[in-house]
Amino acid sequence: MSNSESLLIDMDGVIADTMGGMFDYVEEHFGHSLAHEDIQDYWFQNLPRSDIFTALRSRGFYRNLDVITGAVRAVNRLREEYNGNVYICSKPMDGLDTCETEKRDWLTEYFDEDFAINAIIAHDKTTVQGRVIIEDNPEIAGGIWQPVIFDQPYNRHSQYPRMYGWHDLQVVRDAMRAEPNR
Ligand SMILES: [Mg+2]
Repeated sequence: MSNSESLLIDMDGVIADTMGGMFDYVEEHFGHSLAHEDIQDYWFQNLPRSDIFTALRSRGFYRNLDVITGAVRAVNRLREEYNGNVYICSKPMDGLDTCETEKRDWLTEYFDEDFAINAIIAHDKTTVQGRVIIEDNPEIAGGIWQPVIFDQPYNRHSQYPRMYGWHDLQVVRDAMRAEPNR
């Protein structure tokens, strides 16, 4: 399990290209063409939400997502730097009973079985111990961890420290060195 010194890393929108998978699904099944810049709100306000949630709850959706550019190399590097004290911390989608299994299978494919088994699949991230959490949710708050926002079009208003992609690890290292948030 993680501890108060751990680095936590979200999956959807951070290492897995959830939006890209959703765009493909919605275009194929509903004929709407969406792009990353259309997602200006984390909760999909002003978009065909029922189609989007049908995509996000479809069987196999999380298993088949593409990996975000640079994520595998960068995350493995961070695992080395922090002596393995790095955990995936991901919230499962309500209404998709295969979600957790799909996420662990995906992690096994792109990383390894250890990382997949130890991933924290949690409905409430505020109960998870960690020093820093890398997140795309601009409203993440309430844990002992300090958020670092993984830049996406829908989180630009967030005031937390921001990384602009997986080439941008300095902000993570700085946050890991900062005084704990407690
Ligand atoms: Mg996310």
